[in-house]
Amino acid sequence: MIELRTPTQIEQMRPAGRFVASVISALAEKADVGVNLLELDAMAHDMIRAQGAESCYIDYHPSFGAMPFGKVLCTSVNEAVLHGLPHDYVLQDGDLLSVDFAASVDGWVADSALSVVVGTPRQEDLDLIATTDRALAAGIAAATVGNRTGDISAAIGDVAREAGLRVNLQFGGHGVGRTMHGDPHIANDGRAGRGLKLRAGLVIAIEPWFLHTTDEIYIDKDGWTIKSQDGSRGAHMEHTIAVTDDGPLVLTARG
Ligand code: MG
Repeated sequence: MIELRTPTQIEQMRPAGRFVASVISALAEKADVGVNLLELDAMAHDMIRAQGAESCYIDYHPSFGAMPFGKVLCTSVNEAVLHGLPHDYVLQDGDLLSVDFAASVDGWVADSALSVVVGTPRQEDLDLIATTDRALAAGIAAATVGNRTGDISAAIGDVAREAGLRVNLQFGGHGVGRTMHGDPHIANDGRAGRGLKLRAGLVIAIEPWFLHTTDEIYIDKDGWTIKSQDGSRGAHMEHTIAVTDDGPLVLTARG
């Protein structure tokens, strides 16, 4: 079911967006060579407590999950790209880290993700992150009243194709509201002019993620972490946005 939010409700969603943005910024600041993924999760957990927010992940138990997630943050390193279950791992020089965080504040959810390189970067990783970020920007720019979900998908897919990347269609963006995942699904590639017509009040997470040399993935033995089939690295960028009569409003914009 597609739910549209009133301008008042979108205003009520801003604190969740600001909080999630602040956690993503703090994680990007903290992520460095020598930092354990469990420290990043603990920091996000502390910020949730301080804010009086609620984690969307800790009790999350979808059909594809082996057990409740049990952490408040996704940390995906190198060939891991989505749903990375934080574990006892110390970040190494040159690691490509993607963090994905969703929380509820005052009953409204926001969801955002960011990829960074810790220590000395490889140029190809910086390029992959930049392409993914460009795809996110293109997807957001297409999220205007009167466009369709396929316009967002096509805008994302076009950026990937121009960069010579393949797009996996299994996981993509989604409606966001009282819960983390709602309709519509926003695939990371598609045909312009197709799909649901975008109306003011639609709140969605747009989240391109790409792998260097494949679109094939598998789930790690931890039951959650999604990795590239060929071991190539991945990047993931996500914002929660509201479609408004004044254009797309990025609720998780980082200051
Ligand atoms: Mg997310």
